Amino acid sequence: MAKKAQLVLAYDLGGTKVHAGVVDSNGTILDEVRVPVVLEKGKAAVIEQLAQIGRNYLKKYPSIKSAGIASAGPLDPKNGVLLDPTNFVSEKGTWGRVPLAKLLAKKIKISVRLENDAAAAMLAEHWLGAAKKYDDAMILTLGTGLGTGIIASGELVRAGRGMHPEAGHVIIHHNDNSAPCGCGNLGCAEAYLSGRNFTRRARPRFAQPEYMAKDIANLARKGDPRALAAFEEYAHYMAIAIHNYVVLYAPRIIVFTGSFAEAADLFMDSTRVHLDRLLLRRRKGMDFMPKLAVSKLHNKAGLLGGAFIALNRK
Ligand SMILES: [Zn+2]
Repeated sequence: MAKKAQLVLAYDLGGTKVHAGVVDSNGTILDEVRVPVVLEKGKAAVIEQLAQIGRNYLKKYPSIKSAGIASAGPLDPKNGVLLDPTNFVSEKGTWGRVPLAKLLAKKIKISVRLENDAAAAMLAEHWLGAAKKYDDAMILTLGTGLGTGIIASGELVRAGRGMHPEAGHVIIHHNDNSAPCGCGNLGCAEAYLSGRNFTRRARPRFAQPEYMAKDIANLARKGDPRALAAFEEYAHYMAIAIHNYVVLYAPRIIVFTGSFAEAADLFMDSTRVHLDRLLLRRRKGMDFMPKLAVSKLHNKAGLLGGAFIALNRK
């Protein structure tokens, strides 16, 4: 008889919602819930909200012994501490340092681990998704920002001090006033490549200032030259960013995820052409050209990554 699958509690905690659920050791989601996070009520209320969701699941699935939280950062994964997360701001101000894993563990009485959400998504893609057969992989999360996660030689890549490598903030066009980044600099990869920044940069090409990324993608699919030019510019910058990531990490596959990855069919081919040129010399000794792919985990990568760290498979 097959061994009974182990169950864990998983959370994906973002700046607007929390996605929580019960996942088994095969990666099957047995139960899940998505609710707005009560950020305006402050950190104590958010931790209690996570605890409440956890208690309900623990009652229903008493065999659960551990939990994993994929959270927006910055954070210290080793000690399970949030380090004044950028997007967690309540009426009383920013959060400062919050030992989230310890505080939640105390409330729900099982062990809790914390991981950066982009790292968790990378682990999920490696466990169950497009990067399953690749021990050298990178994900690019294209949403409000440009999140990055890297696995090299089978191991999750961390920066110094236990931090997450913020590869979205490498500067790819110095002093470009058209590309202000949320981090305060000009010309970061994120300032061109996040879904939000694609829309911001593309809008002036149209008379309709209310256009969203989806509208522009629909126009591009109908052959609208303005929309196609916007995606061509996007592919140009995407290739530069990926070139830099290939030089640093040598991934065999790049997985696009996040809401803007739905438009990947509109920039992948052109990105490949530009990238081929940028990597020309590097393709002679060893072929450094990575495969470009789109995630199939949709918006479940954070939750599955949370489950992965709860299962201790890191
Ligand atoms: Zn930046």
